[in-house]
Amino acid sequence: DAKAGGRNSFRFFTRHMTQEANQRLLLESRLRQALSGGELHLVLQPKYRMRDRRLTGFEALLRWTDRDGRSTPPSRFIPVAEDSGLIVDIGLWVLREACQVAAQWPRDAAAPLTIAVNASPRQLAQPGFAAEVGRILHDCGLPAAQLEIEVTENALLEKTGVVQQTLAQLKQLGVHLAVDDFGTGYSSLAYLKNFAPNTVKIDRCFVTDLQSRHDNAAIVLAIITLAKSLGMEALAEGVETEEEFAALLTLGCDTVQGYLTGKPLPLDVAAALVAAEVTSVE
Ligand code: C2E
Ligand code: MG
Ligand code: MG
Ligand code: MG
Repeated sequence: DAKAGGRNSFRFFTRHMTQEANQRLLLESRLRQALSGGELHLVLQPKYRMRDRRLTGFEALLRWTDRDGRSTPPSRFIPVAEDSGLIVDIGLWVLREACQVAAQWPRDAAAPLTIAVNASPRQLAQPGFAAEVGRILHDCGLPAAQLEIEVTENALLEKTGVVQQTLAQLKQLGVHLAVDDFGTGYSSLAYLKNFAPNTVKIDRCFVTDLQSRHDNAAIVLAIITLAKSLGMEALAEGVETEEEFAALLTLGCDTVQGYLTGKPLPLDVAAALVAAEVTSVE
């Protein structure tokens, strides 16, 4: 009968939840070992200024390939790292690694290249985070203005004073700040005003088929106009086609990042790209 059926489906539901929870626990313990066992590495996705198509820097993106060659995408392991708190240690590893890489780049380029690193709300809620960033910059000998920290809109909503304090401290250090995936979260314009990031990263979902989708074009134009009138740089994420690039140029976008101009690259390939860029400037 219906009652029994209900009870059975409830039992099924809890069994399913238990499996899900067990899988997360397993992933969490594998991830903990991945960090200490050297299974994590970075790839770097280039960013280009639209006006002259010059390289402006890279975003560091985390990759996990275990000893058996199995890769797990960030969309799967970052949430587990966030929930478990592992993201704090992983995030520091990413920062150190990214800053070490950027410190190797030639300094004499026309404008120094930037390295962008993603930071989770959980990291920003650590009272010692900004001090740790300062220590890493110092250890690597990297000028603060060459580091950009990407924060999603929702992180700005964080009620705790610590997050707001961390963001202020990072600014004080001279680190650049970017709002990631802009337009998809819950932040209000008041948050944007208070946070005053250097860069607004327009989410990929608004960039897709920009040339033919009037709704996307309207939203992108509004974001670019807003960013520029507040003195911020507008960057479009996930640019995949020449048509999207052309439309963004017309709308006045400053910088692009996407498969069209460059996929996330292994470190040695990124280093070769930097070397070629610096030579071409001279
Ligand atoms: P995100 O910061 O918004 O990074 C951009 C994502 O879009 C990356 O996926 C990138 O590979 C992908 N992408 C770039 N260009 C294109 C394009 O033209 N088309 C398409 N379809 N995709 C494109 P990825 O590397 O899988 O990272 C996903 C998310 O995982 C990141 O989104 C970020 O939120 C998070 N993540 C990655 N690395 C880290 C990290 O070190 N720390 C933290 N906290 N989060 C990270
Ligand atoms: Mg990002
Ligand atoms: Mg993004
Ligand atoms: Mg994203």
